[in-house]
Amino acid sequence: MARFARIALDVPLPRLFDYQTPGISTDDIGRRVHVPFGKKNVVGLVLEVTDSPDFPEEKLKSLKAIDTVLPPLPGDVLDLFRFCASYYHYPIGQVALSALPTALRRWEFEPPKPVARYALTLEGQQALPNALPARAVARHRLAVRLKSGSADSIELNRLCGDAPKVIQDWIEKGWAILHEDASVEATITRPVLLTEQQTAVEAVTQALGGFAAFLLHGVTGSGKTEVYLRLVEQALSKGRQALILVPEIGLTPQFTQRVAARFPETPISVLHSGLAEGERLLRWKQAAAGKAGIVLGTRLSVFTPLPDLGLIIVDEEHDASFSQQEGLRYSARDLAVFRARQRNIPVVLGSATPSLESWHNAETGRYTRLTLPDRATGASLPELSLIDIHNMPLDEGLSPHAIKAIGETLSRKEQALVFINRRGYAPVLHCPVCAWVAPCPRCSTRLTLHRHGHRLRCHHCGHEEHIPAACPACGNPDIRAIGQGTQRVEDALARHFPAARIVRADRDNTRRKGSWDDMQASIHSGEADLIVGTQLIAKGHDFPNLTLVIALDADGALFSLDFRAEERLFAQLMQVAGRAGRADKPGRVLIQTGFPDHPLFSSLVTHDYAGFVRAQLAMRKAGMLPPFSRQAVLRTEAHELGTAMAWLARARELIPVHPDVEVFEPVPAPLLRKAGLERAQLWLQSPSRGSLQKVLQEWAPRLHALRAAGTRWHLDVDPAEN
Ligand code: ADP
Ligand code: ZN
Ligand code: ZN
Repeated sequence: MARFARIALDVPLPRLFDYQTPGISTDDIGRRVHVPFGKKNVVGLVLEVTDSPDFPEEKLKSLKAIDTVLPPLPGDVLDLFRFCASYYHYPIGQVALSALPTALRRWEFEPPKPVARYALTLEGQQALPNALPARAVARHRLAVRLKSGSADSIELNRLCGDAPKVIQDWIEKGWAILHEDASVEATITRPVLLTEQQTAVEAVTQALGGFAAFLLHGVTGSGKTEVYLRLVEQALSKGRQALILVPEIGLTPQFTQRVAARFPETPISVLHSGLAEGERLLRWKQAAAGKAGIVLGTRLSVFTPLPDLGLIIVDEEHDASFSQQEGLRYSARDLAVFRARQRNIPVVLGSATPSLESWHNAETGRYTRLTLPDRATGASLPELSLIDIHNMPLDEGLSPHAIKAIGETLSRKEQALVFINRRGYAPVLHCPVCAWVAPCPRCSTRLTLHRHGHRLRCHHCGHEEHIPAACPACGNPDIRAIGQGTQRVEDALARHFPAARIVRADRDNTRRKGSWDDMQASIHSGEADLIVGTQLIAKGHDFPNLTLVIALDADGALFSLDFRAEERLFAQLMQVAGRAGRADKPGRVLIQTGFPDHPLFSSLVTHDYAGFVRAQLAMRKAGMLPPFSRQAVLRTEAHELGTAMAWLARARELIPVHPDVEVFEPVPAPLLRKAGLERAQLWLQSPSRGSLQKVLQEWAPRLHALRAAGTRWHLDVDPAEN
């Protein structure tokens, strides 16, 4: 028993808050509480109990209530919060509250409705989907999903708006049943593992029961997912839970379905930001109660309480979406490794193009490297070649070679994909008379022209405006769109191939729930001939009839100031190339570039990731850049650059001197203005993580004590971006 609770609150101060709580005990650590704070009552989390508070007793307020319904958060999750707070130098209360499901951040929340699980009967298995009208796309999706195993109503509702009605109808027809009503016979087909897969599975299996980190490097289609599934099977058979982290766009219904089909009897909690609050809470509770055998989710799922956690997998570990870029800026991949060490279990990081950080860890022996060198189905790797567009006439960015290759592919009744990592119609609206370009009034960037609605839009801040009838600077009515985005390329392709059915996939037209799923289905079923898209299309489904990939305009990244730009470009091109020729037909990839002699491309066309990485690591080493050093950056924004720079200069004076830590001068950010504010930053770098952390440890409290003076700031540790 103790008399005071020390509580984490969602406020930007790096400390806990003491409250009078006669009768509280250590068993209450990890419980939600309702406490008065300022003029409001807010939700907090008990992190410690004590008899000797930091402030005079009589000044401390009392708790209003303590939540004894929800079980307290387990100690390892609280330790994870503490680690995040100390490593990322972010207020502990904000760490804790932002890692909880949103519903729990409010005191009163709607208790989630119980969900039902459904399965098909034998009759249903036979009747579906043939008994459905061909046009009933959503019902087909339901049928295909349920044929692969039982599913809960949340997932089914996501696949089909009418799911409750349809399922009821199927139950009446004798095609479907509540899963609890019967055990379902499901036939699970598992391929015989290839030697390399077998080796990988054995290596990790032997490590179950202790901490070990593995880097699973395998080209697209090499059977990494199959390895994950076998490992999950091992963990489940020992009564343990498996956590599978995937990138934001990697969490496709196809992937979920593949996992569900393999483990038809195992409740799976799928967690992502698109879930409604109640759904998320329900799945989180399932996981926290140990009921979900598998948790499959995006970055935030790394904080899920998992009492029986036995294995962590991070798929596409290099993916940028594992880094949270707001609030608590963390890397879910790095936290996954921390959690594995904390829980004494193995973690597997898989990728076709591992991050240089993970690669380096494998080189230095911190991680064990496992390699899958070939495609599992025996399909050959796509043939990559370059189109030198230097001095070549282009039609809306498309070279004559590219157009010819598309024509040939279409005439063979195969599909082609054109990859351009820029959405919208054109990136610049330009006046040829006075050289005016349409600027964003709030950012130091240009507005992108969008065809639909004839609008100009800022991709940084969301600002929108009408397209002017004439140049606002000189009055010239003949203003022009320069450069290409997906919409313009789509138009050009429609002009060249009027008979082709074209699908465009970018963030603008896949925002609606399920629309990208529908597009993928139409590509899969052969309803589309030509696909134009951004990196969104680089991941996910196999399209067996897709045999040609064309990458436009890859060169920007070659001259970027961001030292990670080439690494990202390589990964992206490798990933889109992986879409070509996955089944029986060989695939071809054409990359348009004005710099065909660039070393990045010679590694790319020979599928030599190791060679590319070696060259990159040599450059990083010469520049003492990560992974050979650790970085942190203090970023700040203000109405005027001068204010931001002056604040950074004062912050810089507060940095303790350390022989191993290099402190740079404050500089304006690469994108100077964003959403009306001007930004500056200050970099710190050290060959030693420990030394850098030591400096940050002393510095961070001083920053909190420094008057903000019209600025907003945050510290980014291991920043993923410049
Ligand atoms: P990755 O995750 O590396 O892209 P997948 O696990 O999805 O690779 O495998 C690619 C394809 O190869 C899938 O269609 C999968 O079913 C198949 N596959 C995987 N392992 C084997 C195997 N051992 N034998 C035959 N086919 C396999
Ligand atoms: Zn003009
Ligand atoms: Zn803007």
